Amino acid sequence: MLPGKKLCGEVFKTLDYNMRELVFATNNEHKTQEVRSLLLNEYNILNLHDIGCTIDIPETGSTFAENATLKSCFVSENYHLDCFADDSGLEIEALGQEPGIFSARYSGVRNDRENLLLVLKKMEGQTNRRARFRTVISLVRGSENFLFEGIIQGVIREEPSGAQGFGYDPIFEPEGYARTFAEMSMEQKNQISHRALAMKKLIAFLKER
Ligand code: IMP
Repeated sequence: MLPGKKLCGEVFKTLDYNMRELVFATNNEHKTQEVRSLLLNEYNILNLHDIGCTIDIPETGSTFAENATLKSCFVSENYHLDCFADDSGLEIEALGQEPGIFSARYSGVRNDRENLLLVLKKMEGQTNRRARFRTVISLVRGSENFLFEGIIQGVIREEPSGAQGFGYDPIFEPEGYARTFAEMSMEQKNQISHRALAMKKLIAFLKER
């Protein structure tokens, strides 16, 4: 053990001083812990809070990939650390892939219920209910940008059902399941979700390189 470092938190921060550092451009502690546990012994995962980044990084791109890359590049350029960032949303075929990158504020406000109700209204009378959730992760390592994508296909229900999850979960039924995301436990959703699929690709890449 290193001298004078007995507290768990300190040990975590000091013992892995030989490990490569990688920033996850998120403020979500839950997401951070999940990735940390998957890359234990390989990477020291830091989030925006850990590096003291309090800026709301602008997401002005026109695709998930651009927005994820804007976030990862912002950190890598300003903090000189390798970084990955994700961007996700719901794409509905009959609505020309809307809400897409506007998923978080489709109704004009950052309100899950309002956004979901607007989707249901726009989908009234629509027979084509096909939709998908998509996540793109951008990893900036040195001067290179690597992209990882996760997609889950499904349909938009006529009415919300279920109380788990967030966002559009109550109206999204993944293909092959007779339940909405909001009717699944977090563990079940995390095995099949767009985010989990993209994250698995990133983790596999990080482990092999
Ligand atoms: P973010 O890029 O992960 O922050 O997602 C942007 C927006 O897409 C969220 O605010 C939600 O409206 C929607 N979204 C993304 N992933 C999910 C999901 O797993 N379930 C429901 N809604 C989601």
